[in-house]
Amino acid sequence: MRLSLLNSWTTAVIALLASGASSADHNSKIGDAPTREQCEGLAARMAGRWPDASIRITSAQFHAAPEVISVGTFGGPPTPTTVPAHCELFGVLRERTGAFGQRYAIRFHVRLPTAWNGRFFFQAGGGTNGEIGNALGQLATNVAPALVQGFAVVSQDSGHDNATNTDPNRGGTTAFGFDAQARADYGHASLQPVAQAAKALIAAYYESRPRFSYFVGCSKGGAEGMAVTQRYPEEFDGVLASAPGFSLPRAALAQAWDVQTLGRATDLTTPHSLAAAFSDAELALAAKSVLSACDADDGLADGIVGAFAQCSTQKVGHQLHAIQCSRGKTAECLSEAQITALERVHAGPVDASGRALYSDWPWDAGLASRAWRMWKLGSSEPAMPALNIKLGGASLSAVFTTPPTVVRDDPEAQLAFVRAFDFTRDAHKIYATESQFPRSAWDDISARSNDLTRFRERGGKLLVPHGVSDAVFSINDTLTWYREVDQRTGGAAASFVRVFPVPGMGHCGGGPATDQYDAFAALMKWVEQGEAPEQIIAQAGPATPWPGRQRPLCPYPKVARYKGAGSVERAGSFVCR
Ligand code: CA
Repeated sequence: MRLSLLNSWTTAVIALLASGASSADHNSKIGDAPTREQCEGLAARMAGRWPDASIRITSAQFHAAPEVISVGTFGGPPTPTTVPAHCELFGVLRERTGAFGQRYAIRFHVRLPTAWNGRFFFQAGGGTNGEIGNALGQLATNVAPALVQGFAVVSQDSGHDNATNTDPNRGGTTAFGFDAQARADYGHASLQPVAQAAKALIAAYYESRPRFSYFVGCSKGGAEGMAVTQRYPEEFDGVLASAPGFSLPRAALAQAWDVQTLGRATDLTTPHSLAAAFSDAELALAAKSVLSACDADDGLADGIVGAFAQCSTQKVGHQLHAIQCSRGKTAECLSEAQITALERVHAGPVDASGRALYSDWPWDAGLASRAWRMWKLGSSEPAMPALNIKLGGASLSAVFTTPPTVVRDDPEAQLAFVRAFDFTRDAHKIYATESQFPRSAWDDISARSNDLTRFRERGGKLLVPHGVSDAVFSINDTLTWYREVDQRTGGAAASFVRVFPVPGMGHCGGGPATDQYDAFAALMKWVEQGEAPEQIIAQAGPATPWPGRQRPLCPYPKVARYKGAGSVERAGSFVCR
């Protein structure tokens, strides 16, 4: 389930193999293979060579033989994967005492494969971070993790540790939001020192600098990818920033807006009662209205709204109002309150003057997916409060507004905070500063600049896949940003940044969508061979209505259109235009 992405990936060592060769495809080996002595002696050799004097290595372990580890992916459950021989290190830097006497530090985790492919891979975080990550470099379903491919991989906790900095009286794992430096480290400030620490280790271990450096993440990790292109463009040649939460504080306003808006379609008394605003069958009715209005606009009624940009509220509203209940609520109709709520959610949050506070959202078929429900509504069976209440309330109160508000790590308290949030009185707090917080949450945590001049000039390439049915970060915000970049560069955006919408896909995966694709391979080709991705072939997974269906994903503003002949299940029957 997609919830696993909210935290950094977890691993479990299942077994230790006695011997055996790695199946990894190594492009090159540089120098002689490092030894156990070189791994375990690396920390001592780094004395005086660190880019930041506060760095220290806390452990180094040489894994001489391949091991089987359980690896999670964006598209599916953890699967046992054989990882190659490597040197594993844990490090820490910038240890300090912060607000409320909390001990903070930036902690990182590095794996250096014995058979190195000459490349560096930065594994981004997710959610509110605070987990050090497994440094395996997970990629898409059916794609070998970066470590298996021979990359040197680093992951990090972004400057706070959920194991020690969590405070149930101040938001739980979002308690770091009460410390200004921890906010900045979470937003972006931890990224460059960790990248430079990992590169220094690579240089010392292999006696060679990486030929190519990549940054890969989704959600908050996608926002971190955006941050490095804007703030630290010299560090990375290629960035895969999926479903980027680059407007996180504004998106958190939308989360509160959605709770209040959907709550008006039901009797919102407890966190769990929000789920009753729509039954699964009622969401399916709404999704059917979207398909009736817009599915065929891409040339084929196939359950995929390829031309989602043309799927206006007017077109969908016409279909929704056609199934509005006239004589009492039945299973075949939606109430006026439900239709109004859906229209207001899709329009996005506004203040009393009508000023937009985030973005609107596209109408799409993933509206009826579990991924959409878990963010916007929660479920009664099993009883789970909406992530917009639990994660949204905890984040908006502690991390994204200044000053932070004390809210217990409890769905009742989080709901009370979200319900009391006033979009005219309180929304400006994401841009506010005060003596304890000299920078606003927006300054520290957003990564939405359209100025990518430095990244472009150093030859960097940026790929941005984004689900059209993403329920927490609106793809419309991403597309607006892309158009800004395009305008700023005189129409040259596609020469170094491309957005690939994935119709039907939820947040980082899931939904009625072709959500299995290898965008990282496309990025590497672009960076290393200069081959810009004109399309990315994607496949539908087993939980979709059409397992095995293929489609090309197309760089915005192109849309996958049916050629008029050939199997509708094969990518070759479609063209991007
Ligand atoms: Ca279609």
